[in-house]
Amino acid sequence: MSRRPDRSLMSFSAVARALESPTKSLISTDLFDTVLLRDHTIESERLAIACLRAAAEIDIDPTALTRLRWSFHDIAYRAVAMERPLGDAALISICRAVAAALGRGEAEAQILRRTEVAIDIEHLRPNRPLVDALTRAATAGVRIIAVSDTYYAADDLRHILRTVVGPNPIAAVYASADLGLTKHAGGMFVEVARREGVDPEQIVHIGDSATADVEQARAAAWTAVHLPRDHAGRTKKLIGKAVAIPVKIRRCR
Ligand SMILES: [Mg+2]
Repeated sequence: MSRRPDRSLMSFSAVARALESPTKSLISTDLFDTVLLRDHTIESERLAIACLRAAAEIDIDPTALTRLRWSFHDIAYRAVAMERPLGDAALISICRAVAAALGRGEAEAQILRRTEVAIDIEHLRPNRPLVDALTRAATAGVRIIAVSDTYYAADDLRHILRTVVGPNPIAAVYASADLGLTKHAGGMFVEVARREGVDPEQIVHIGDSATADVEQARAAAWTAVHLPRDHAGRTKKLIGKAVAIPVKIRRCR
């Protein structure tokens, strides 16, 4: 007996075809590694560059800033795991904690947040074929939204989208850091459908994560389309992770 093909794992051309003749009233897309493609760098590298740049602007020791930034990063995610496992950490809260530990205030917290966003932008490029396909769907009258598990606020995500992608068809952006709910725990899909006022079965969601974007979307009765990063992208990331092992060892001490 032949097995039915797994329709959740679609090639990009299949995704584009599905968007050409949309049968759903709402299309949702993940952002990072779906609409916004990261280069081979990893988080620790980008944060090190951001701390170096922010330290110069704030006029403090970059080593102290980097160490504090990582400490509060770990503390924030441990607090989330213990106190609100269905939620997410928020970058601005981490930046405020770092600034307070340095005896500084809101202005310095905002410099750190803004610098981290700027550095991230330098390492992102648009998934132009997907943006074009979403634009065609929007032109055909389908509402397009973005749903992201991230410590960025929706305002940061909109700024990143405008800068990296330029004009785009995404009408609304939902961030787990704002909602206090995530895709990987599942609650975000239920809340976004409620806020959009749309039957979950009328929503199709596109994303690169087999668990957060596919399994959890389906559990919430959304139609999920898996669009994994290409093989070359994954290989680059593996190389990046291998390079980062010494950094991770330092973090564990
Ligand atoms: Mg993603």
